[in-house]
Amino acid sequence: MNLHEYQGKDILASFGVAIQRGIVASTADEAVAAAKTLTEDTGTSWHVIKAQIHAGGRGKGGGVKVAKSLEELRTVANQIIGMQLITPQTPPEGKKVNKVLIAEDVYYPGESELKEFYVSVLLNRNSGKNMIMYSTEGGMDIETVAENTPHLIFTEEIDPAFGLLPFQARNIAFNLGLNGAAFKGMTKFITSLYKAYVGADASLFEINPVLKTSDDKIIAVDAKVTLDENALFRHKDYEILRDLAEENPVEVEAREVGLNYVDLDGNVGCMVNGAGLAMATMDLIKQSGGSPANFLDVGGTADAARVEAAFRLILKDPAVEAILVNIFGGIVRCDRVAQGIVDAYKNMGDTIKVPIIVRLQGTNADIAKKLIDDSGLNVLSAIAFEEAARMVQEVI
Ligand code: GDP
Ligand code: MN
Repeated sequence: MNLHEYQGKDILASFGVAIQRGIVASTADEAVAAAKTLTEDTGTSWHVIKAQIHAGGRGKGGGVKVAKSLEELRTVANQIIGMQLITPQTPPEGKKVNKVLIAEDVYYPGESELKEFYVSVLLNRNSGKNMIMYSTEGGMDIETVAENTPHLIFTEEIDPAFGLLPFQARNIAFNLGLNGAAFKGMTKFITSLYKAYVGADASLFEINPVLKTSDDKIIAVDAKVTLDENALFRHKDYEILRDLAEENPVEVEAREVGLNYVDLDGNVGCMVNGAGLAMATMDLIKQSGGSPANFLDVGGTADAARVEAAFRLILKDPAVEAILVNIFGGIVRCDRVAQGIVDAYKNMGDTIKVPIIVRLQGTNADIAKKLIDDSGLNVLSAIAFEEAARMVQEVI
């Protein structure tokens, strides 16, 4: 589950990570009120207005602006709230901005030089360990740094048995070229950041930039936070952070009916029971010259109601030219699944305009095939995997 910057920063702060302070606002009036509060709390007179959307690169797209007075802040807030923000990471039409974060200006001049760093925490799936990835080249996107100056990206792997060790945090601060108060600030920042990552059951923290201010404070200016959905049951208070407006509407609907659905951009819809079989089915579709329109695991109970819900979800995608149903009937017998398909099909009347290929294997597969063949519906049936693949090839 992806979070907005302001939500991510709230989580960081709750674990003691130093952040650029801010208050979220949905209207220009709220933005001005937020700025006044920040001035009272922090003494800042300049503010940054930051569009809250689930995409990075907002600065480049005009979604991050500095205001030097309350009048300017109101004007900019009015510009940004409600705008369709296009960044290198949004779909071409952009994303609508419903909220802005009003933050204290932290790029003020002072005794020493400002510096922007890059720090992220994520799981290295190759080693099975969490790692902290960091770079002196903050503020720009890390893919560019990786391409042009890969030697400026460092990593520190964390042994799950010991957690982050103090020398590792010091090593990071050292490699970032810091000393004095900034060195101390960075070790504290890294230590609390890693605590937050583990404590919140996150799967990604990307803080870009981490800023060294001109008075040598180390703070998170941006926060891209992804939480592990499978651990959300341990964080009931995070569930409300989900912003449905940012998620794929079909995926939201699927979650509501308990189906495991991921939208993809191909032309063959698939309905499968079991994630492993779903992956194999998607491979099969590729080999048949098609491309999967979705991943859909209907789970253990493929009854008429679930099958119908699944068909309806798949058919919402106008790119779907055919549907491949691939079910292994073990505990749930194939004939019951076949009956479910036939009932669902009849229920949906003429809303199904694409051919359906059903491959059922397992208990009572032959009875199931007969049931489908005798139904008189526009459904092709198969028992062998390859046969189903050939049918897909013929109809697309
Ligand atoms: P992103 O573009 O979506 O990654 O959004 P960021 O939160 O990283 O902000 C983009 C850029 O805005 C940063 O790299 C900074 O250069 C700038 N910025 C952020 N906060 C401030 C601030 O307090 N003052 C000034 N002057 N610039 C800021
Ligand atoms: Mn950023």
